[in-house]
Amino acid sequence: LASRYKYGEYSIWIEISKLTAITKPLNLGQGFPDYEPPSRFPQFLAEVASENNLNFHQYTRGLGHVRLVNAISKLYSNLINREIDALNEVLVTVGAYEALYCAIQSNIEVGDEAIVIEPYFDCYEPMIRIAGGTPRFIPLRNTKPNAEVSHSSDWKLDPEELASLFNAKTKLIIINTPHNPLGKVFDYEELNMIADLAKKHNVLVISDEVYEWLVYEPAKHTRIASLPDMWERTITIGSAGKSFSMTGWKLGWAYGPSYLIKNLCVVHQTAIYTCATPVQEAVARAFEHEISVLNTPESYFQNLSKELKPKMLYLSNVLQESGFVPIIPDGGYFLVSKWTKFENKIDLSAETDKYKDFRFTKWLSKNVKLQSIPYSIFYSEESKVLAEDFMRLCFFKKDETLKEAEKILSTWT
Ligand code: PMP
Ligand code: GLN
Repeated sequence: LASRYKYGEYSIWIEISKLTAITKPLNLGQGFPDYEPPSRFPQFLAEVASENNLNFHQYTRGLGHVRLVNAISKLYSNLINREIDALNEVLVTVGAYEALYCAIQSNIEVGDEAIVIEPYFDCYEPMIRIAGGTPRFIPLRNTKPNAEVSHSSDWKLDPEELASLFNAKTKLIIINTPHNPLGKVFDYEELNMIADLAKKHNVLVISDEVYEWLVYEPAKHTRIASLPDMWERTITIGSAGKSFSMTGWKLGWAYGPSYLIKNLCVVHQTAIYTCATPVQEAVARAFEHEISVLNTPESYFQNLSKELKPKMLYLSNVLQESGFVPIIPDGGYFLVSKWTKFENKIDLSAETDKYKDFRFTKWLSKNVKLQSIPYSIFYSEESKVLAEDFMRLCFFKKDETLKEAEKILSTWT
Protein backbone atom coordinates (compact mmCIF):
# COMPACT_ATOMS: atom_id res chain seq x y z
CA LEU A 1 0.00 0.00 0.00
CA ALA A 2 1.33 3.42 -0.91
CA SER A 3 2.22 4.97 2.44
CA ARG A 4 -0.08 8.00 2.10
CA TYR A 5 -3.04 5.61 2.01
CA LYS A 6 -2.33 4.23 5.48
CA TYR A 7 -4.79 6.84 6.80
CA GLY A 8 -7.58 5.10 4.94
CA GLU A 9 -6.73 1.54 5.93
CA TYR A 10 -9.29 1.23 8.69
CA SER A 11 -12.99 1.60 7.90
CA ILE A 12 -15.63 1.26 10.60
CA TRP A 13 -18.22 0.48 7.90
CA ILE A 14 -16.28 -2.55 6.71
CA GLU A 15 -15.69 -3.73 10.27
CA ILE A 16 -19.35 -3.37 11.23
CA SER A 17 -20.53 -5.14 8.06
CA LYS A 18 -18.30 -8.09 8.94
CA LEU A 19 -19.64 -8.12 12.49
CA THR A 20 -23.30 -7.99 11.45
CA ALA A 21 -22.74 -10.84 8.98
CA ILE A 22 -21.80 -12.97 11.99
CA THR A 23 -24.02 -11.64 14.79
CA LYS A 24 -27.12 -11.01 12.60
CA PRO A 25 -28.46 -8.28 14.87
CA LEU A 26 -31.34 -5.88 14.39
CA ASN A 27 -29.32 -3.41 12.37
CA LEU A 28 -29.64 0.23 13.38
CA GLY A 29 -25.97 0.81 12.54
CA GLN A 30 -25.07 2.14 9.10
CA GLY A 31 -27.37 4.86 7.86
CA PHE A 32 -29.89 3.62 5.32
CA PRO A 33 -33.64 2.93 5.24
CA ASP A 34 -34.85 -0.66 5.54
CA TYR A 35 -37.92 -0.08 3.37
CA GLU A 36 -38.80 0.86 -0.20
CA PRO A 37 -38.48 4.42 -1.49
CA PRO A 38 -41.63 5.79 -3.21
CA SER A 39 -42.16 3.51 -6.22
CA ARG A 40 -41.92 6.36 -8.77
CA PHE A 41 -38.16 6.71 -8.15
CA PRO A 42 -37.12 3.12 -8.98
CA GLN A 43 -39.77 3.23 -11.71
CA PHE A 44 -37.80 5.98 -13.47
CA LEU A 45 -34.80 3.64 -13.65
CA ALA A 46 -36.97 0.79 -14.95
CA GLU A 47 -38.26 3.11 -17.68
CA VAL A 48 -34.78 4.29 -18.60
CA ALA A 49 -33.53 0.70 -18.86
CA SER A 50 -36.43 -0.45 -21.03
CA GLU A 51 -36.86 2.51 -23.39
CA ASN A 52 -34.57 1.10 -26.04
CA ASN A 53 -32.58 4.32 -26.19
CA LEU A 54 -29.04 3.36 -27.12
CA ASN A 55 -27.65 6.53 -25.52
CA PHE A 56 -28.66 5.41 -22.05
CA HIS A 57 -26.37 2.40 -22.29
CA GLN A 58 -23.24 4.26 -23.35
CA TYR A 59 -20.93 6.81 -21.76
CA THR A 60 -22.46 10.18 -21.14
CA ARG A 61 -20.87 13.59 -20.56
CA GLY A 62 -17.96 13.03 -18.16
CA LEU A 63 -18.72 15.85 -15.75
CA GLY A 64 -22.41 15.07 -15.52
CA HIS A 65 -25.23 13.89 -17.80
CA VAL A 66 -26.72 17.05 -19.34
CA ARG A 67 -30.31 16.39 -18.30
CA LEU A 68 -29.11 15.84 -14.71
CA VAL A 69 -26.86 18.90 -14.38
CA ASN A 70 -29.73 20.96 -15.81
CA ALA A 71 -32.09 19.62 -13.16
CA ILE A 72 -29.56 20.16 -10.36
CA SER A 73 -28.92 23.69 -11.57
CA LYS A 74 -32.65 24.43 -11.77
CA LEU A 75 -33.36 23.18 -8.25
CA TYR A 76 -30.47 24.89 -6.49
CA SER A 77 -30.62 28.14 -8.48
CA ASN A 78 -34.05 28.50 -6.96
CA LEU A 79 -32.94 27.50 -3.46
CA ILE A 80 -29.87 29.71 -3.22
CA ASN A 81 -31.33 32.53 -5.26
CA ARG A 82 -28.67 32.80 -7.92
CA GLU A 83 -28.35 31.38 -11.41
CA ILE A 84 -26.14 28.26 -11.40
CA ASP A 85 -24.48 27.50 -14.75
CA ALA A 86 -25.31 23.82 -15.31
CA LEU A 87 -22.31 23.09 -17.52
CA ASN A 88 -19.63 24.87 -15.50
CA GLU A 89 -20.81 25.06 -11.93
CA VAL A 90 -22.01 21.48 -11.27
CA LEU A 91 -20.12 18.17 -11.12
CA VAL A 92 -21.86 14.79 -10.83
CA THR A 93 -20.01 12.22 -8.72
CA VAL A 94 -20.18 8.66 -7.37
CA GLY A 95 -22.09 9.64 -4.24
CA ALA A 96 -21.31 12.56 -1.98
CA TYR A 97 -18.20 10.57 -1.00
CA GLU A 98 -16.58 11.21 -4.34
CA ALA A 99 -17.60 14.87 -4.31
CA LEU A 100 -15.90 15.22 -0.91
CA TYR A 101 -12.85 13.42 -2.22
CA CYS A 102 -12.61 15.66 -5.31
CA ALA A 103 -13.14 18.83 -3.25
CA ILE A 104 -10.45 17.91 -0.73
CA GLN A 105 -7.96 16.39 -3.15
CA SER A 106 -8.14 19.29 -5.60
CA ASN A 107 -7.56 21.97 -2.98
CA ILE A 108 -5.22 20.62 -0.31
CA GLU A 109 -1.50 21.05 -0.92
CA VAL A 110 1.00 19.18 1.26
CA GLY A 111 1.25 21.15 4.51
CA ASP A 112 -2.14 22.87 4.24
CA GLU A 113 -4.52 22.82 7.16
CA ALA A 114 -8.23 22.00 7.05
CA ILE A 115 -10.57 22.82 9.93
CA VAL A 116 -12.90 19.98 10.88
CA ILE A 117 -15.72 20.19 13.43
CA GLU A 118 -15.97 17.26 15.86
CA PRO A 119 -17.88 15.02 15.76
CA TYR A 120 -17.46 14.61 11.97
CA PHE A 121 -18.42 12.11 9.27
CA ASP A 122 -15.44 9.80 9.55
CA CYS A 123 -14.09 10.00 5.97
CA TYR A 124 -13.12 13.68 6.20
CA GLU A 125 -10.01 12.95 8.22
CA PRO A 126 -8.36 10.29 5.99
CA MET A 127 -9.27 12.29 2.88
CA ILE A 128 -7.42 15.34 4.24
CA ARG A 129 -4.40 13.34 5.43
CA ILE A 130 -4.10 11.35 2.19
CA ALA A 131 -3.97 14.68 0.33
CA GLY A 132 -1.03 15.69 2.55
CA GLY A 133 -3.01 18.09 4.70
CA THR A 134 -3.35 18.40 8.46
CA PRO A 135 -6.82 18.42 9.99
CA ARG A 136 -7.30 20.94 12.80
CA PHE A 137 -10.18 19.79 14.97
CA ILE A 138 -12.62 21.80 17.02
CA PRO A 139 -15.33 20.09 19.07
CA LEU A 140 -18.96 21.10 19.34
CA ARG A 141 -19.38 21.61 23.10
CA ASN A 142 -22.48 20.88 25.12
CA THR A 143 -23.63 24.28 26.38
CA LYS A 144 -26.37 22.75 28.56
CA PRO A 145 -24.74 19.79 30.30
CA ASN A 146 -27.34 19.82 33.10
CA ALA A 147 -30.44 19.92 30.90
CA GLU A 148 -32.94 17.18 31.64
CA VAL A 149 -33.30 16.41 27.94
CA SER A 150 -30.35 17.09 25.68
CA HIS A 151 -30.87 18.59 22.19
CA SER A 152 -28.47 18.68 19.28
CA SER A 153 -28.84 22.48 19.23
CA ASP A 154 -27.22 22.62 22.71
CA TRP A 155 -23.96 21.56 21.06
CA LYS A 156 -22.14 24.65 19.83
CA LEU A 157 -18.86 25.96 18.55
CA ASP A 158 -16.96 28.44 20.68
CA PRO A 159 -16.42 31.35 18.23
CA GLU A 160 -13.12 32.35 19.83
CA GLU A 161 -11.81 28.82 19.81
CA LEU A 162 -12.76 28.55 16.13
CA ALA A 163 -11.13 31.90 15.29
CA SER A 164 -7.91 30.73 16.95
CA LEU A 165 -7.56 27.83 14.48
CA PHE A 166 -7.33 30.05 11.40
CA ASN A 167 -3.80 30.88 10.26
CA ALA A 168 -1.78 31.36 7.06
CA LYS A 169 -1.83 27.59 6.35
CA THR A 170 -5.62 27.21 6.59
CA LYS A 171 -6.97 26.22 3.18
CA LEU A 172 -10.50 25.17 4.01
CA ILE A 173 -13.13 24.38 6.61
CA ILE A 174 -15.62 21.52 6.28
CA ILE A 175 -19.09 21.98 7.64
CA ASN A 176 -21.87 19.41 7.70
CA THR A 177 -25.43 20.56 8.18
CA PRO A 178 -27.75 18.81 9.01
CA HIS A 179 -25.08 16.96 10.87
CA ASN A 180 -24.07 13.30 10.94
CA PRO A 181 -23.96 11.95 13.66
CA LEU A 182 -25.34 14.61 16.02
CA GLY A 183 -28.33 15.80 13.97
CA LYS A 184 -27.40 19.42 14.61
CA VAL A 185 -28.79 21.92 12.10
CA PHE A 186 -26.51 24.96 12.09
CA ASP A 187 -28.60 28.12 12.33
CA TYR A 188 -28.10 31.32 10.35
CA GLU A 189 -26.02 33.03 13.08
CA GLU A 190 -23.69 30.06 13.45
CA LEU A 191 -23.17 29.84 9.70
CA ASN A 192 -22.67 33.58 9.47
CA MET A 193 -19.99 33.43 12.16
CA ILE A 194 -18.19 30.68 10.19
CA ALA A 195 -18.67 32.62 6.93
CA ASP A 196 -17.17 35.79 8.43
CA LEU A 197 -14.05 33.88 9.51
CA ALA A 198 -13.76 32.19 6.10
CA LYS A 199 -13.96 35.56 4.36
CA LYS A 200 -11.57 37.27 6.78
CA HIS A 201 -8.92 34.56 6.27
CA ASN A 202 -9.67 33.84 2.61
CA VAL A 203 -10.54 30.20 3.27
CA LEU A 204 -12.75 27.81 1.25
CA VAL A 205 -15.84 26.21 2.72
CA ILE A 206 -16.85 22.66 1.84
CA SER A 207 -20.47 22.35 2.87
CA ASP A 208 -21.67 18.75 3.15
CA GLU A 209 -25.46 19.03 2.95
CA VAL A 210 -26.43 15.45 2.15
CA TYR A 211 -29.23 15.58 4.78
CA GLU A 212 -30.58 18.90 3.44
CA TRP A 213 -34.19 17.63 3.32
CA LEU A 214 -34.07 15.96 6.71
CA VAL A 215 -34.82 18.85 9.03
CA TYR A 216 -37.35 18.70 11.87
CA GLU A 217 -39.48 21.79 12.35
CA PRO A 218 -38.99 24.42 13.65
CA ALA A 219 -35.33 23.96 12.59
CA LYS A 220 -34.57 25.26 9.09
CA HIS A 221 -31.83 24.33 6.67
CA THR A 222 -29.63 27.24 5.61
CA ARG A 223 -27.27 26.87 2.67
CA ILE A 224 -24.05 28.70 3.51
CA ALA A 225 -23.48 29.34 -0.23
CA SER A 226 -26.48 31.70 -0.09
CA LEU A 227 -24.93 33.95 2.58
CA PRO A 228 -23.47 37.28 1.41
CA ASP A 229 -20.23 36.87 -0.57
CA MET A 230 -20.06 33.15 0.18
CA TRP A 231 -20.84 31.72 -3.26
CA GLU A 232 -17.29 32.52 -4.44
CA ARG A 233 -15.68 30.40 -1.72
CA THR A 234 -18.16 27.56 -1.16
CA ILE A 235 -18.39 24.06 -2.61
CA THR A 236 -21.76 22.54 -1.69
CA ILE A 237 -22.18 18.78 -1.75
CA GLY A 238 -25.39 16.73 -2.03
CA SER A 239 -26.46 13.11 -2.43
CA ALA A 240 -29.22 11.41 -4.42
CA GLY A 241 -28.82 8.46 -2.05
CA LYS A 242 -29.90 10.66 0.85
CA SER A 243 -32.33 12.95 -1.00
CA PHE A 244 -34.32 10.11 -2.57
CA SER A 245 -33.66 7.50 0.17
CA MET A 246 -31.87 5.16 -2.23
CA THR A 247 -28.35 5.01 -0.82
CA GLY A 248 -27.42 2.18 -3.18
CA TRP A 249 -27.71 4.46 -6.20
CA LYS A 250 -24.47 6.18 -5.12
CA LEU A 251 -24.91 9.39 -7.05
CA GLY A 252 -23.87 12.76 -5.69
CA TRP A 253 -22.90 16.21 -6.85
CA ALA A 254 -20.97 19.34 -6.02
CA TYR A 255 -21.96 22.84 -7.06
CA GLY A 256 -20.10 26.11 -6.71
CA PRO A 257 -18.33 28.77 -8.75
CA SER A 258 -16.75 27.49 -11.99
CA TYR A 259 -13.22 28.40 -10.88
CA LEU A 260 -13.57 25.91 -7.98
CA ILE A 261 -15.68 23.24 -9.72
CA LYS A 262 -13.21 22.98 -12.61
CA ASN A 263 -10.56 21.78 -10.14
CA LEU A 264 -12.86 19.10 -8.74
CA CYS A 265 -13.45 18.02 -12.35
CA VAL A 266 -9.74 17.31 -12.76
CA VAL A 267 -9.81 14.79 -9.90
CA HIS A 268 -13.07 13.29 -11.16
CA GLN A 269 -11.92 12.88 -14.76
CA THR A 270 -8.66 11.29 -13.60
CA ALA A 271 -10.22 8.74 -11.26
CA ILE A 272 -13.77 8.12 -12.48
CA TYR A 273 -14.29 9.95 -15.77
CA THR A 274 -18.09 9.50 -15.81
CA CYS A 275 -20.86 8.12 -13.59
CA ALA A 276 -23.33 5.47 -14.77
CA THR A 277 -25.59 6.92 -17.49
CA PRO A 278 -28.89 5.15 -16.66
CA VAL A 279 -28.68 6.15 -13.00
CA GLN A 280 -27.99 9.77 -13.96
CA GLU A 281 -30.90 9.81 -16.41
CA ALA A 282 -33.22 8.30 -13.78
CA VAL A 283 -32.09 10.76 -11.07
CA ALA A 284 -32.62 13.62 -13.56
CA ARG A 285 -36.22 12.47 -14.07
CA ALA A 286 -36.72 12.09 -10.31
CA PHE A 287 -35.41 15.63 -9.79
CA GLU A 288 -37.63 17.03 -12.56
CA HIS A 289 -40.61 15.41 -10.89
CA GLU A 290 -39.63 16.76 -7.47
CA ILE A 291 -39.05 20.25 -8.86
CA SER A 292 -42.55 20.19 -10.38
CA VAL A 293 -44.16 19.31 -7.02
CA LEU A 294 -41.97 21.39 -4.70
CA ASN A 295 -44.10 23.30 -2.16
CA THR A 296 -47.10 21.04 -2.82
CA PRO A 297 -48.34 18.18 -0.60
CA GLU A 298 -46.74 15.72 -3.07
CA SER A 299 -43.20 16.87 -2.44
CA TYR A 300 -41.13 13.91 -1.25
CA PHE A 301 -38.31 16.21 -0.18
CA GLN A 302 -40.64 18.18 2.04
CA ASN A 303 -42.61 15.19 3.35
CA LEU A 304 -39.62 13.10 4.32
CA SER A 305 -38.96 14.83 7.62
CA LYS A 306 -42.66 14.55 8.51
CA GLU A 307 -42.38 10.80 7.90
CA LEU A 308 -39.25 10.50 10.00
CA LYS A 309 -39.99 12.74 12.96
CA PRO A 310 -42.40 10.26 14.63
CA LYS A 311 -39.78 7.52 14.16
CA MET A 312 -37.17 9.73 15.81
CA LEU A 313 -39.49 10.50 18.74
CA TYR A 314 -40.48 6.85 19.08
CA LEU A 315 -36.91 5.58 19.21
CA SER A 316 -35.76 8.34 21.55
CA ASN A 317 -38.61 7.42 23.86
CA VAL A 318 -37.67 3.74 23.73
CA LEU A 319 -34.07 4.66 24.52
CA GLN A 320 -35.07 6.87 27.43
CA GLU A 321 -37.35 4.20 28.90
CA SER A 322 -34.55 1.66 28.65
CA GLY A 323 -32.05 3.83 30.52
CA PHE A 324 -30.14 5.45 27.66
CA VAL A 325 -29.89 9.24 27.45
CA PRO A 326 -30.60 10.34 23.85
CA ILE A 327 -29.67 13.68 22.32
CA ILE A 328 -32.76 14.85 20.40
CA PRO A 329 -31.69 15.79 16.84
CA ASP A 330 -32.99 18.68 14.71
CA GLY A 331 -32.09 16.90 11.48
CA GLY A 332 -30.58 13.83 9.83
CA TYR A 333 -31.55 10.25 10.63
CA PHE A 334 -29.43 9.37 13.59
CA LEU A 335 -29.87 9.39 17.34
CA VAL A 336 -26.83 9.70 19.56
CA SER A 337 -27.32 8.49 23.11
CA LYS A 338 -25.37 7.94 26.28
CA TRP A 339 -25.14 4.29 27.28
CA THR A 340 -23.01 4.43 30.45
CA LYS A 341 -25.85 3.58 32.82
CA PHE A 342 -25.16 -0.03 31.84
CA GLU A 343 -21.42 0.15 32.35
CA ASN A 344 -21.39 -1.54 35.73
CA LYS A 345 -24.12 -4.03 34.90
CA ILE A 346 -22.35 -5.87 32.12
CA ASP A 347 -19.01 -7.53 31.67
CA LEU A 348 -17.18 -6.09 28.66
CA SER A 349 -13.92 -7.90 29.38
CA ALA A 350 -14.36 -10.29 26.43
CA GLU A 351 -13.97 -7.30 24.10
CA THR A 352 -10.45 -6.04 23.56
CA ASP A 353 -10.95 -2.75 21.73
CA LYS A 354 -9.13 0.31 23.00
CA TYR A 355 -12.25 2.45 23.39
CA LYS A 356 -15.11 1.43 25.61
CA ASP A 357 -17.84 2.48 23.16
CA PHE A 358 -16.39 -0.07 20.72
CA ARG A 359 -16.43 -2.69 23.47
CA PHE A 360 -20.01 -1.81 24.37
CA THR A 361 -21.42 -1.71 20.82
CA LYS A 362 -19.78 -5.03 19.94
CA TRP A 363 -21.04 -6.58 23.16
CA LEU A 364 -24.53 -5.25 22.36
CA SER A 365 -24.40 -6.68 18.85
CA LYS A 366 -23.33 -10.13 20.08
CA ASN A 367 -25.39 -10.41 23.26
CA VAL A 368 -28.47 -8.24 22.77
CA LYS A 369 -28.54 -8.50 18.95
CA LEU A 370 -28.83 -4.77 18.40
CA GLN A 371 -26.36 -3.01 16.11
CA SER A 372 -25.24 0.53 16.85
CA ILE A 373 -22.19 2.58 15.83
CA PRO A 374 -19.50 3.52 18.37
CA TYR A 375 -19.51 7.31 18.65
CA SER A 376 -15.74 7.69 18.97
CA ILE A 377 -15.32 6.95 15.24
CA PHE A 378 -16.59 10.48 14.69
CA TYR A 379 -13.75 12.04 16.74
CA SER A 380 -10.04 12.50 16.25
CA GLU A 381 -7.64 10.27 18.20
CA GLU A 382 -6.97 13.03 20.79
CA SER A 383 -10.67 13.63 21.45
CA LYS A 384 -12.09 10.10 21.40
CA VAL A 385 -12.36 10.22 25.20
CA LEU A 386 -15.11 12.85 24.74
CA ALA A 387 -17.14 10.31 22.81
CA GLU A 388 -16.77 6.96 24.56
CA ASP A 389 -19.97 7.31 26.59
CA PHE A 390 -22.14 7.48 23.46
CA MET A 391 -23.40 5.33 20.58
CA ARG A 392 -25.29 6.16 17.38
CA LEU A 393 -28.48 4.52 16.10
CA CYS A 394 -30.24 5.03 12.75
CA PHE A 395 -34.02 5.53 12.98
CA PHE A 396 -34.85 5.52 9.22
CA LYS A 397 -36.43 2.08 9.64
CA LYS A 398 -39.83 0.42 9.32
CA ASP A 399 -42.11 0.94 12.33
CA GLU A 400 -41.89 -2.86 12.89
CA THR A 401 -38.12 -2.63 13.07
CA LEU A 402 -38.32 0.12 15.67
CA LYS A 403 -40.91 -1.90 17.62
CA GLU A 404 -38.55 -4.84 17.50
CA ALA A 405 -35.82 -2.59 18.91
CA GLU A 406 -38.17 -1.69 21.75
CA LYS A 407 -38.85 -5.36 22.42
CA ILE A 408 -35.17 -6.23 22.39
CA LEU A 409 -34.25 -3.38 24.72
CA SER A 410 -37.13 -3.86 27.14
CA THR A 411 -36.32 -7.56 27.41
CA TRP A 412 -32.67 -6.84 28.03
CA THR A 413 -32.87 -3.87 30.43
N1 PMP B 1 -21.60 12.95 4.00
C1 PMP B 1 -22.29 12.53 5.07
C2 PMP B 1 -22.43 13.45 6.24
C3 PMP B 1 -22.85 11.25 5.10
O1 PMP B 1 -23.51 10.83 6.16
C4 PMP B 1 -22.68 10.40 3.98
C5 PMP B 1 -23.22 9.01 4.00
N2 PMP B 1 -24.35 8.96 3.25
C6 PMP B 1 -21.97 10.90 2.87
C7 PMP B 1 -21.44 12.17 2.92
C8 PMP B 1 -21.76 10.07 1.64
O2 PMP B 1 -22.91 10.04 0.86
P1 PMP B 1 -23.06 9.07 -0.42
O3 PMP B 1 -23.70 7.83 0.07
O4 PMP B 1 -23.93 9.85 -1.37
O5 PMP B 1 -21.69 8.87 -0.96
N1 GLN C 1 -23.49 7.95 5.88
C1 GLN C 1 -23.93 6.66 6.38
C2 GLN C 1 -23.62 6.57 7.85
O1 GLN C 1 -23.07 7.45 8.43
C3 GLN C 1 -23.29 5.55 5.62
C4 GLN C 1 -21.83 5.38 5.84
C5 GLN C 1 -21.13 5.02 4.61
O2 GLN C 1 -21.64 5.21 3.52
N2 GLN C 1 -19.94 4.54 4.72
O3 GLN C 1 -23.95 5.57 8.45
